[in-house]
Amino acid sequence: MKLTIGHLYPDLLNLYGDRGNIQCFCKRLQWRGIDCEVIPYLSGDRVDFDKLDIVFLGGGSDREQEIVCHYLMEIRESFYNYIEDNGVVLAVCGGYQLLGKYYQTDCKKIEGLSILDITSEWNEPRLIGNIVLNSPLSSRPVVGFENHAGRTNIGSHTAFGSVVRGHGNNGTSGQEGVIYKNLVGTYLHGPLLPKNPEICDYLLSCALKRKYGNEIALSPLEDTLEHNANKIMADRQE
Ligand code: GLN
Repeated sequence: MKLTIGHLYPDLLNLYGDRGNIQCFCKRLQWRGIDCEVIPYLSGDRVDFDKLDIVFLGGGSDREQEIVCHYLMEIRESFYNYIEDNGVVLAVCGGYQLLGKYYQTDCKKIEGLSILDITSEWNEPRLIGNIVLNSPLSSRPVVGFENHAGRTNIGSHTAFGSVVRGHGNNGTSGQEGVIYKNLVGTYLHGPLLPKNPEICDYLLSCALKRKYGNEIALSPLEDTLEHNANKIMADRQE
């Protein structure tokens, strides 16, 4: 068995160690004897979604988002079809915002892919700090770090989690991120997956099921370190 991960535009979307999410996907597959290939697509590269089992889109500054949105528009239709066909996607912060209709910055409107029915608008102050959620995708709290000016309204979409500590989508709704089919969009950097291995395994299971057509039980891993790291952040009062 093998999964192929497409890393979209690491030359532009690469904040706060987001690529650690890809290392986590790969390691947790390799530890179980499952092969993993990572294909980085730089801005302007042709993306062949038929080859991909997981797509990762990281975070970026307003400036980088403005550049990257043009490249994303070029692949919109195939990206949309991939998502509708239950392709697995993890999109963080700037990448998450760009899957929606638009991100209105303090000075311009950056057009999004309109794959998610969400909108984001810049405001002060930036929403920065450690964040803890309860998510239907994890029996443990989901922990991470957020740093965004965008306030995201997710309309009738399902949230990735409810905020226990921190700001989340907009600082007022008590919601964080979005789950749509096999896509998770979130403001959590950190990176997200090493501290929340259940989320990683959930996404890997979705990708394996889509590719091989049946439920593939992932063997349990020795996650004491990961769980300790998660617990320290979940219990930290700040
Ligand atoms: N530029 C966006 C914002 O500030 C996203 C930032 C990020 O990816 N961390 O809302």
